[in-house]
Amino acid sequence: MNRAVTRTLSANTHHLRLCRRTLCSATTDHVYHATPGEVNDNVQPYDIAIVGGGMVGMALACSLATTPLTKHLKVAIIDANPALTNQVPINREDPPDPRVSTVTPATISSFKDIGAWQYVQQHRHAYFDKMQVWDYTGLGYTKYDARDVYKEVLGCVVENKVLHRSLLSRIEDTDFGKTIYPSRLMSMSLHPSSSSNIVDDTSSAEALYSRGRLAKLELSDQKSLYAKLVVGSDGAKSQVRELMGFKKTGWNYSQNAVICTVEHSVENHCAWQRFLPSGPIAILPIGDNFSNIVWTMNPKEASDLKSLSEEDFVKAVNHALDYGYGPHPRPSLLDSSSMFSWLGGNMTITSNASFEVPPKVVKLASARMSFPLSLLHANNYASKRVVLIGDAAHTVHPLAGQGVNLGFGDAFALSRTIAEGVAVGMDIGEVSVLKRYEAERRPANIGMMAILDGFQKAYSVDFGPLNILRAAAFHGAHFILPLKRNIISYASGEQRLPLFT
Ligand SMILES: Cc1cc2nc3c(=O)[nH]c(=O)nc-3n(C[C@H](O)[C@H](O)[C@H](O)COP(=O)(O)OP(=O)(O)OC[C@H]3O[C@@H](n4cnc5c(N)ncnc54)[C@H](O)[C@@H]3O)c2cc1C
Repeated sequence: MNRAVTRTLSANTHHLRLCRRTLCSATTDHVYHATPGEVNDNVQPYDIAIVGGGMVGMALACSLATTPLTKHLKVAIIDANPALTNQVPINREDPPDPRVSTVTPATISSFKDIGAWQYVQQHRHAYFDKMQVWDYTGLGYTKYDARDVYKEVLGCVVENKVLHRSLLSRIEDTDFGKTIYPSRLMSMSLHPSSSSNIVDDTSSAEALYSRGRLAKLELSDQKSLYAKLVVGSDGAKSQVRELMGFKKTGWNYSQNAVICTVEHSVENHCAWQRFLPSGPIAILPIGDNFSNIVWTMNPKEASDLKSLSEEDFVKAVNHALDYGYGPHPRPSLLDSSSMFSWLGGNMTITSNASFEVPPKVVKLASARMSFPLSLLHANNYASKRVVLIGDAAHTVHPLAGQGVNLGFGDAFALSRTIAEGVAVGMDIGEVSVLKRYEAERRPANIGMMAILDGFQKAYSVDFGPLNILRAAAFHGAHFILPLKRNIISYASGEQRLPLFT
């Protein structure tokens, strides 16, 4: 006899209660509200249940909605986040929200492919074509310019709520068959596959479930649903990952990131990052005279920084981005022009990109928020009927602004894999289909995670010889043209590792 593998967060949810589904016409979305205790035993299963409608889950939904092979699929999106069902207007006049993401040219291009970038452009966003990275020791700095890789931009800074809303708006432009469940996943169950062919796709959901052809999900409002494929896009604390027993590797950095919006008296067009003894501080343009600060430090320092008066906070930021902790870098310190002369003229640049001090911050323009930082990686992303994407599969240090870009990469890769499965008539929950997605994304994510973790460790030590090595690395990245080009291309979302090629 087949026995379902049921994982649950609360013993109360063991009792399955299928609830009458009530269509809410408040938005163009289908939004189902529970009527506890009522039973509907003729539930139509979904092709895909996306658990977690954050930026990455919505990118998957949007890609499915705009791809000819998948736009007919029946998709449930499960998330209690009110942003999915109650779309508060985003006002251009309000100061930007401090939760922003730097999106790479690869992400911008994918958003254009699915028709979502036009919505981003209707809101505040800031492209940047230059970046300066330097070190508090004064030994080195690197300047990147999009022109070094024959591109127009290095990236674009966008509020998370704008990215999220743009994906939602694009989906609403289509006739995609999605249903939003404003609820949380509580438990999931799966039966092992059965070779019996007494069911076909017209059989009841319960019959298909009992033959291992569907997963069953139980929600916090006591509703249940069935799906051929469950996508865990429910963030770093993913319940899909935990319920399904995916093993993971990771650690806490014992660091917090303090984020906020600040104002300058002039517009900032460059992304700046300085490595300080306790972690990096980044100041990113976000349009008009605003910038976003991401400042990493230990939790006690973060809490002290948050409780400073606004005036003292602004002073602390300007100090950290100028002479605080150490002198401005001077290229002559390591005689950079001759350091790499052995590489030959066409390999090096005589850079006239001299060190600059970022524009002064004049005002704090938002609340200060603090997030603990960790690294986490699921050892596998796919098993039968279940797959992980975004922070549910991997969480990285924000020092290079790559986290959600990796997640978007997952979402678009999974959408392509599902389309390929549909094209050849395969069951999209079959592990052989899902492993193709895992094979594409796992090496790409591990490569980026290793680099970010290495950076985090290299820059959290203040030790003479290591400082010199770091300075040499800065100088190498600044003066050796092929290396510089490859670093920019890799950070832009191209999958080649940043070595000489
Ligand atoms: C300070 C900071 C700065 C960052 N800056 C950048 C940057 O510049 N660029 C970049 O690429 N990345 C950046 N990141 C990383 C980026 O924010 C994350 O990678 C991204 O938010 C992950 O998106 P996600 O959709 O995978 O997960 P989340 O944003 O965590 O979304 C998960 C969703 O799942 C829902 N959910 C959770 N549990 C359940 C459940 N049981 N049932 C149903 N729904 C559930 C939640 O409500 C949420 O909507 C930064 C991160 C931090 C902390």
